[in-house]
Amino acid sequence: NIAVSARQISASIANASILRGIDLDLPAGRWTSVVGPNGAGKSTLLKVLAGLLRHARVQGRVQLLGRALADIPPRERARQLAWLGQNESAAEDLPAYDVAMLGRLPHRAWMAPASDADHAAVQQALHTTQAWDWRDRPLSELSGGERQRVLLARALAVQAPVLLMDEPLANLDPPHQTDWLHTVRDLVGQGGTVVSVLHEVSIALQADDMLIMAAGGVVHHGPCQSTATHAALEQVFERRIQVREI
Ligand code: ADP
Ligand code: MG
Ligand code: MG
Repeated sequence: NIAVSARQISASIANASILRGIDLDLPAGRWTSVVGPNGAGKSTLLKVLAGLLRHARVQGRVQLLGRALADIPPRERARQLAWLGQNESAAEDLPAYDVAMLGRLPHRAWMAPASDADHAAVQQALHTTQAWDWRDRPLSELSGGERQRVLLARALAVQAPVLLMDEPLANLDPPHQTDWLHTVRDLVGQGGTVVSVLHEVSIALQADDMLIMAAGGVVHHGPCQSTATHAALEQVFERRIQVREI
């Protein structure tokens, strides 16, 4: 059962080749971490999988939950796939609650009132990321970590079957990194599919599967708990890999 698949994905931006012929099957109900050196193409790949890459030449095919991504209308896609980007921009003057609500009403914006189910999802998401206390404060007043937890809540509020996150732990202190880990495990335990680019390899190794990228390609894809994955990591990062439980 494949949640996200990619066939022969290539991307180039301003004539520079950034992704080179990527084939990928990400199983449903599992957490896949994506790692690799800076500039490997991790963020670009995630954007292609989310259908977000603009100003770029993208070739190849992406399927989301068995359908061609390009054929899924934007509103439907926004319910099936939740996204938390790297250095995500947001409406800085909106209260945190309204920012999280954008996960529920991305297209309707404020034209239609939120339903009870929308409010329930936003409340739950803000509690999950411990951002409830500043629900009335504009994003611009929050610290980097507080802001990141609101943006995570926005992604969780979608309650999508597939969640893609690019460096979600940026700005989070260790206790909130641990919270994030528990949240991901809960989602996957309920059958969700999570894909996260992670900077810290020791945390990335706690996923189910690992995708290792270098120079615009996938150099390894396999279970985190395998000697082949550990060997590939050591080769790509040219150092001993230590597993740290958090
Ligand atoms: P990673 O997330 O693995 O660090 P990225 O996917 O962000 O890597 O970038 C891969 C490569 O593509 C890098 O060399 C980066 O400089 C280049 N790149 C990314 N976005 C653009 C862009 N909009 N214009 C030009 N080059 C880009
Ligand atoms: Mg980077
Ligand atoms: Mg990146």
